[in-house]
Amino acid sequence: MIGAGLTGLSAAVALRDLGLNTVVLEAKTVGHGASGRNGGHVGVGQRRGQLILERWLGLEHARALWQLGLDAVDLVGELIHRFNIECELKSGNLFASANPKLTDDLKREVEHLHSVYGYSSTRYLSPQDLQQETQAQGLVDGVLDTTAKHLHPLKYVFGLAKAAQSLGCEIYENTQVTRIQQDVDTVKIYTEHGTVCANKVVLACNAYLDHLEPHLASKVMPINNYMIATEPLSEELAHSITRSDLAIADSQFVVNYWKLSEDKRLLFGGGETYSRRFPSDIRAFVRPHLLSRYPQLAQTQITHGWGGTLAITRNRLPHVGHIKQQVYYAQGFSGHGISIGTLTGKLMAQAIAGQTENFTQFEKIPIKNFPGGPLLKWPSLVAGMLFYSLKDKLSPKVRSLV
Ligand SMILES: Cc1cc2nc3c(=O)[nH]c(=O)nc-3n(C[C@H](O)[C@H](O)[C@H](O)COP(=O)(O)OP(=O)(O)OC[C@H]3O[C@@H](n4cnc5c(N)ncnc54)[C@H](O)[C@@H]3O)c2cc1C
Repeated sequence: MIGAGLTGLSAAVALRDLGLNTVVLEAKTVGHGASGRNGGHVGVGQRRGQLILERWLGLEHARALWQLGLDAVDLVGELIHRFNIECELKSGNLFASANPKLTDDLKREVEHLHSVYGYSSTRYLSPQDLQQETQAQGLVDGVLDTTAKHLHPLKYVFGLAKAAQSLGCEIYENTQVTRIQQDVDTVKIYTEHGTVCANKVVLACNAYLDHLEPHLASKVMPINNYMIATEPLSEELAHSITRSDLAIADSQFVVNYWKLSEDKRLLFGGGETYSRRFPSDIRAFVRPHLLSRYPQLAQTQITHGWGGTLAITRNRLPHVGHIKQQVYYAQGFSGHGISIGTLTGKLMAQAIAGQTENFTQFEKIPIKNFPGGPLLKWPSLVAGMLFYSLKDKLSPKVRSLV
């Protein structure tokens, strides 16, 4: 196993459940990647809506992916319950639209999930309903999903690491894998400290894969995303953010997303960059995004700021597969990795044990290379992303639900 984020650790737990010897090699420390730094929103379904999936992949495949998306949220809950992981798990996510033109799409998606998928945990929130829930500025209406969840990501990933260890898995931190060599029967995994020989390897490096496997790197694009935490809010201010303690995300192309922590801080994600460097002052970088939604927090202190790197694919669906029955990988969760990373970790373990049915549902999703290949993909992506983020600034209406 390479990578001790939630994908690798979920795979490690599942491999140990299947009775397979498992070693995790992590370049830094457990949760150092996106898994320990994210917004904690555990979304239902896939990163794309079902109407789009049906159009791209056909109804049958879209249905299978919908079910797996539900299984993914269940699996997160099961792991937390089974291993007693204290990570502030709560239910209820709200997608809030900044664009009045999206209203029909929102209603159509909700109705479609009811009628075609029998899914009743979601409902349309009118402008009045939305105002009852949050005093955020510039939002029109939304969709509430009561099956979706939110949690404290670092506590979750630490809990998974402990779970894997309790099942007998060894985790080696500060152990960067520098090369993988596939031979006929074994794979050699070279690190700075020595070599591991394994029958199978799981690559769970996501945006941090770099040049370890160039063929996989060309399918994903690393993007830096940023978060801040405020000082603990008064009861009144916390209520103005979300009355029902929901996780909320808006419809901007560069999405803003937020939730309250257990001690009533606002954890707010907003803004992204596409180069290797993080802004020198992340708090100042994210603050305007926060104030655009909650100007009443102008006097509130921002106590923490951090960034992380996630991986997107061109169609925002995960890139999952295997190379020669030896190397298994899952990456490119496109901001939907808590649920889908946890699930695909387990599915890689099952595939290694010969149970491939659900793994195949992900593996057969077509994922194109980023144009220009590993060397030239950067400039074209940056141009595209900057174009859409500029559109966000000019008119708040780009990201559609369907
Ligand atoms: C700021 C931010 C907010 C986000 N918010 C959300 C959210 O609210 N909801 C959601 O679902 N998703 C969110 N995401 C995305 C989510 O965090 C990721 O999809 C998920 O954590 C991916 O998990 P992972 O285990 O696959 O990868 P990571 O957690 O990135 O772990 C990969 C690990 O591999 C290690 N590694 C890489 N190369 C090597 C090597 N050569 N040798 C050894 N180890 C190596 C890295 O050090 C790293 O620890 C967010 C991401 C960020 C950055």
